[in-house]
Order: sequence, then C-alpha cells, then structure tokens
Amino acid sequence: MINPASRTKSIELSQIRKMFEVANPNAINLGIGEPDFNVPENIKNAMKNSIDENDTHYTSNKGLIELREEIVKKFKNENGIKTNTENIIVTVGASEALFMCAQAFIEKGDDVILPNPSFLSYEACVNIAGGTIVPVDCKMENEFKLKADDVAEKITKNTKAIILNSPSNPTGAVMEKEDIKAIADLSMDNNFLIISDEIYEKIIYDKKHYSPAKYSDNVITLNGFSKTYAMTGLRIGYLTANEFYTEELLKIHQYNIACANTTSQRGAYEALTGPQDEVEKMVNEFKNRRNLIVSRLNEMGYETVNAEGAFYVFPKIDDENFVSKAAEAGVITVPGVAFGSNGKGHVRMSYANSYENIEKAMDILEERVVNG
Ligand code: PLP
Repeated sequence: MINPASRTKSIELSQIRKMFEVANPNAINLGIGEPDFNVPENIKNAMKNSIDENDTHYTSNKGLIELREEIVKKFKNENGIKTNTENIIVTVGASEALFMCAQAFIEKGDDVILPNPSFLSYEACVNIAGGTIVPVDCKMENEFKLKADDVAEKITKNTKAIILNSPSNPTGAVMEKEDIKAIADLSMDNNFLIISDEIYEKIIYDKKHYSPAKYSDNVITLNGFSKTYAMTGLRIGYLTANEFYTEELLKIHQYNIACANTTSQRGAYEALTGPQDEVEKMVNEFKNRRNLIVSRLNEMGYETVNAEGAFYVFPKIDDENFVSKAAEAGVITVPGVAFGSNGKGHVRMSYANSYENIEKAMDILEERVVNG
C-alpha cells in the first residue's frame, strides 16, 4: 500500500454519512441536510431541453455568461453587492467554492476563526489546507447567533479568515445585522478575509438576511442552488469576490474542475429567471414544520430555540445516549458534538421531512425516549 499524503491522512470521513448508511431504512430521518422537495418542473424542463439541443459542451471556466449576468443582478438586487460577470465563478456546489477559498488563501501558520458549532466541511477544508482552527462559541443564551464581540476577542496577528454561515447549519441561527456589519468592519481594520456561506439565505422566517460583502471588500460570498431550489444532486453553486481574490480562486477552480456542469448551469439560469413561487411554497411549509417541531420539543422538556432560518433545530438534550435511543426507536438525529465541542449536550434535528413524519417522529420520541 502506498502511504497517503500527510494532509489527507489526518482527516476523518464524515460520521454523519456513515450513520445514515447503517440506519434502519424504516426509521424517520431527521438527520438529513437537504430539502425533501423535488426540483421545480420549469428547471427540469430547461435542463432536458438543453441536452436535446446538444448544449453539452464545456462553458467558460467561470461559467455561462448568461448565468453570470443573472447572478450579478441577484447580488445587486437582493444582497446589495456590486459585482460584475468577471468576478463571478460558477462552482460545483457551495462545497467546491468553500474548498477553493481554503486552497487559495489558507496555509500553515494561518488562523481561521470558525463558529462553534458549524458545518462539518469548514473544519475539514481548513485542515486540508494546513490552517489552524480558532473556534468561537455560538452561545445558546444568544440563540446560537455569532456575536461580533466574541469574534473580536479571537483576532490575533495570525488571523487570516473567518467563515460565517447565516442562517446556520446546524443551529438555524440567523445573525443580527449589527454583528454582520461589525465583523465586516473588523475584517477591514484587521485585514482578514470573510468567507460568507449564504447557502440558506432564502430559507429564513420573518427575518432579513444581510451579506457582509455589502460592508467590506475583504469578503468572498458563497451561495448555491442546492437548498433554495432543491437542486442538491445537480451540484451547482457560485461565488463572488473582488478582482484580486477571484483571480486566485480561479486558479484552483480551473485546474480542478475546468467548469461546472453545463446542464446544471442551464437549470440554474432557469432557477434565477423563472417563477419563484415554488421557493415561497417551500419556505412556508418549512416554517409550519419549524413551529411544530419547536413546540413539540419544548413540551417534552427539551429546551429549543425558535430558530429563524435553515431547516434545523438544535435542542438542548443532556442525555448522551439520546441519539442511539432515538435511532433504536425509529428516529434518526445527529449528535450536536459532531459540529464542534460547543454542540455537546445538543442534538441536531432537520425538519426537511414531511409534517406527518415530523409529528410521528415527535410521538415516537415522547412515548419511547422521554417516557420510555
Ligand atoms: N454550506 C452549508 C452550511 C451546508 O449545510 C451545505 C450542505 O449541507 C453546503 C454548504 C454545501 O452545499 P452544496 O450542495 O452547494 O455543495
């Protein structure tokens, strides 16, 4: 056997995926990280037509120009970010965009501030790039919202970047505008990069999303179609940053991917230009489910924040055996500690499952885990 490179040797594969592989197929899965909706018909048709028209060749490295034009408009109208087609890169999901950021900007000796808890890939991408993670706690007393004052305390001369994710996976927390703005100001004053993962931007309830790139030039904004348009398997996302950052990022993208999948880019174009009513329906449905799961968990005595976005809740559950007991009873959940040490004593539950299944899952937990 040939030894792997030291950069990969120390990395562990995701325990969450492993757990799903061994799960009872009849269990109700509250562990999933993707919408349970299908891709809207207009998007499917756009992709089918593009194949029939033999539109299956490479696009430019940065992506189809028509799609980049729409992304520019989207950033301007929805996020207040001024950009242009040259400073957009269409990527293979937000995942590739994240990996590109780490590869292009992080190396040994660099500190990267990460919210604790946060999405698993952040830690892995920083580790593979050789950076050092500096965790900053998202406290339950602040509804898990990352606070600028807590971030300010962690900044040193080695701080190279921070990853922000609002709305958040795994807590559903939506950051306050003043914290986003204050962290943006810190990034200019202390010269570090903000990698802003805004993939859940549209899945937000009675709250407004703010992009740090509106307030700082040191920001790479990542987004994608996986969550908003239920296009997870189509692997399509995008980023924007200023000219200097985009050029560095393109080096990683060009030699790794060449360009994102052309058919998915056609679907993404339709997603941005077509009707948005499916998105609205999906978000309304998520909100109903959020209300259900939060009230049921609180009634059971598991203190749960009424999360303002994404499709996750992060109840406080001290029982270390809760996840295995729930799985035995037929409900799959994820231990909060999988997302960082500050997730200990919590469990992530996704409500990307039907209202009926969530009701059933809550009944099972109440009967077999709480009172069992
Ligand atoms: N960022 C966060 C916070 C996520 O939860 C996910 C997927 O679960 C991703 C990025 C990856 O998204 P994509 O499918 O666009 O690669």
